[in-house]
Amino acid sequence: MSSPPSTSAMWPWKIPRRSSVTRRRARRSIASRNAGSSSSRYDSTGCSPGEWSRSGAPRTSRKRSLAGGSAGGGMAGLEHAAPPAVKAHGGSSAPDREVSRGGEIGLGFGRDGRAGPVTELPRRPDRMRGSERPSVTASTPTCTFRLSGLELGLDEPESALRQRACARLGLELGELRGFRMAKKSLDARRRRGGMRYVCSVDLVLGDGRRTSGFKRALRSGRLSAAPVVGSFEVEVPPERRGRRVVVVGSGPAGIFAALVLARNGARVTVIDRGARLEQRGPRVVAFHRGRTPDPETNLLFGEGGAGTYSDGKLYSRVDDALEVPILEELVACGAPASLPYDARAHIGTDRLHRILPELRARLVALGTEFLWETRLEALVTLAGPPRVVRAVRTTHGELPCDDVVLATGHSARDTWARLAEQGVVFEAKPFQLGVRIEHPQELVTRGRFGHGDEAALLGPAAYNLVCRAGSGEPGAFSFCMCPGGKIVASVNEAGLLCTNGMSNSTHSSPWANAAIVTTFGPDDYAAYGAGPFAGVAFQRSLERAFFEAGGGDYTAPAQRVPDFLAGRESAGSLATSYTFGARPGRIDLLLPERGRRALARALVRFDDMLAGFAGPEGLLVGVEARSSGPVRMTRDRVTRTAAGFENLYPVGEGAGYAGGIMSAAVDGARSAQVLLTTDSRVCDSGVRPRGGLD
Ligand SMILES: Cc1cc2nc3c(=O)[nH]c(=O)nc-3n(C[C@H](O)[C@H](O)[C@H](O)COP(=O)(O)OP(=O)(O)OC[C@H]3O[C@@H](n4cnc5c(N)ncnc54)[C@H](O)[C@@H]3O)c2cc1C
Repeated sequence: MSSPPSTSAMWPWKIPRRSSVTRRRARRSIASRNAGSSSSRYDSTGCSPGEWSRSGAPRTSRKRSLAGGSAGGGMAGLEHAAPPAVKAHGGSSAPDREVSRGGEIGLGFGRDGRAGPVTELPRRPDRMRGSERPSVTASTPTCTFRLSGLELGLDEPESALRQRACARLGLELGELRGFRMAKKSLDARRRRGGMRYVCSVDLVLGDGRRTSGFKRALRSGRLSAAPVVGSFEVEVPPERRGRRVVVVGSGPAGIFAALVLARNGARVTVIDRGARLEQRGPRVVAFHRGRTPDPETNLLFGEGGAGTYSDGKLYSRVDDALEVPILEELVACGAPASLPYDARAHIGTDRLHRILPELRARLVALGTEFLWETRLEALVTLAGPPRVVRAVRTTHGELPCDDVVLATGHSARDTWARLAEQGVVFEAKPFQLGVRIEHPQELVTRGRFGHGDEAALLGPAAYNLVCRAGSGEPGAFSFCMCPGGKIVASVNEAGLLCTNGMSNSTHSSPWANAAIVTTFGPDDYAAYGAGPFAGVAFQRSLERAFFEAGGGDYTAPAQRVPDFLAGRESAGSLATSYTFGARPGRIDLLLPERGRRALARALVRFDDMLAGFAGPEGLLVGVEARSSGPVRMTRDRVTRTAAGFENLYPVGEGAGYAGGIMSAAVDGARSAQVLLTTDSRVCDSGVRPRGGLD
């Protein structure tokens, strides 16, 4: 496979992140400051008794079940009943591998009953080589627990957490049968001893003694049964096996739907209107050089969808047991191993370009066919109700199929219009809109980490700021923050301007950008029509106004924050990372009044949280009109099929069921499982979409 094109034409900075000498020096300095502090917190049995008193009410029922110590299978009692069709994580399709989720814990991660050396648990049982496979049975007396609230110094290795976990539970290291990082997040509050990581770990313990430290941790709620890890595999009923499925769109929703379908034996064809990665890069670069967008292959359309030129931030507001297998798949394709537990998981555009061809190769190996530069034109249906799609009409002819997964993303406005003509039901929905704000990265890092050694260790800082609605005023929040990043024009139509942000894995640019957005509901954009596409008309009118205000060549109108607040045009040249540069414009007048008020209020608040945020170094660039989609395709909650259709599955952001890479991937994968099983209970293992953006 030829290597993907270089993105250097779009990514001019070659600034090393930190020299290793600087990092080493900072580490030494912090180590000497921390000497004794972290270890002295723990006595030989764990921690000081008073440490847990503030942690809330004891969870007595959980304590009883867990402290009693149960075999892997016994832990099932702690969980909801397992959905009947879900298989063990990554297990084969043989019925004897089908286990309850409680059993999955015991089988998946248990070791034999003997105390042995501490074992890392990164490898799934189905990926283990013969000699590595644990010789366990369903009755093996092991349980997997999650211990949260463990602190780790910035300079400490993660392996230190094993001892720390044992110390907290009052266990010997030898009693630990398995260990895995579950979560690692930065606590950037500067307390005594400096910043810390706060971690959760999964521990496999024998069915043996339950120490006082163990019981104390249970009472405090810091120790609980480890959550279930989901699985792509499902038990496909005989009549649903080997179906021909066309997946429209190769973004995260489409690609993970395809993966689940292919892994479960479906015959999958993925079509995408845009080009494969090897051809996509040069066309994006051509747009940047010639300022004429290609309507089919651009920053939004083509292999990997909008996610390909994204920042690749993978934290999400969706809580689903499939997140871990999705992240593991990305790790297997070359993403960093810390992805599944890093609370600020980030891949970066450069690495995404290495991962996607690998993901494609895996799908091809499973028999998936890819048709690039092939646009869905229409559905070929049999009369209903419900209507049955028997083929899709594309720019390269008709493709017969048993099912269609529609994963078109949030910018396929022409396709939506065509589908609506064919009877697919759309609803208008609330969506977010605002501007990008850009600062020198140095200002953000200094504001968050100060000048100390921590800043040198942690690298470019990110932020996540929220200004809640109050006294009749709309709220606003920062979104898609790209430390060391670049503002890009995420455009697929001529004459419209829309911004977004990206960054490489090294966060190497000297700029930090984020969207500052507020939510507009159908009532707020009612002036643009009463139908489902009123939000699209609203987006378009703003994108056109910003395009024209920038001079009509993709230069963006921009305004310094103090000028935005004072209602005047900015003077002088405006430095920005934005691909096409910026010129002074009245963003305060271009935005709808509701948006202007929300942003003005939020910017003042954010300045209290991050010094200099609303100062002259803050530059607003716009417009950020596609942070989320303005429509939803109505679908059945149980079958996930489009209203009035038997075999049409709208998924992902374009269908209105996701707001970012991870939620789109989860929605695609879950919908594929429902398609295969016609049993929505496959989703019972924890989809709790909290709405809004990732
Ligand atoms: C610059 C940028 C940065 C971003 N950064 C992040 C981030 O850091 N983290 C995050 O979570 N999210 C980020 N996002 C958002 C994220 O990329 C999307 O939420 C996500 O890609 C949505 O996935 P999807 O599969 O639903 O749709 P998409 O990724 O949009 O994929 C849709 C695909 O469908 C294809 N298609 C459309 N119409 C047709 C048709 N008629 N026929 C055939 N194919 C068609 C398109 O070509 C496209 O490839 C970013 C977006 C952009 C633009």
